[in-house]
Amino acid sequence: MRRNRALVLDTSSIINGYPPEETLEKFTVPEVVEEAKATVTASSMGVLMERGEMRVWDASTGSVEQVEEKLGEIGGKLSTADVRLVALALDLAGRGLKPVLVTDDYGLQNMASVLNLEFKSVVTPGIKSVFSWRGVCPACGKNWDGDVERCPDCGTPLRKEVSRRPI
Ligand SMILES: [Zn+2]
Repeated sequence: MRRNRALVLDTSSIINGYPPEETLEKFTVPEVVEEAKATVTASSMGVLMERGEMRVWDASTGSVEQVEEKLGEIGGKLSTADVRLVALALDLAGRGLKPVLVTDDYGLQNMASVLNLEFKSVVTPGIKSVFSWRGVCPACGKNWDGDVERCPDCGTPLRKEVSRRPI
């Protein structure tokens, strides 16, 4: 049986506009609504909720504790609103939905990954780095970019390594 996807909106996704899946149910926590109200006018926020397009639910204490514990383990930092938002996503998963955290915040995206929750971004691409290959000489330790098989300095066959660089 396929589980229904539901969007879980963070402050930035509410401010930056709707994600494309208009028909999916949308959820957020009261703390995020408060944050978003600072930027989005109260009237447009009201419209969003009056049309029943966004459900504002409290996160359960158990899920909040679970998120805080995991956050401590990975040494991450999230705002109170964001911790509660991730906790709400866990709650929804517990209710048989498939929550998708909609956020451009890398900290939130990372937390979602750690908890095996799906996420998607609204504005920015959801990746921070690109992979490339380089050759590392086991003898002299020099790095060579590109498709080089032997160390140009000492002739030793190079070891291929993945190198990550930020975009
Ligand atoms: Zn070498």
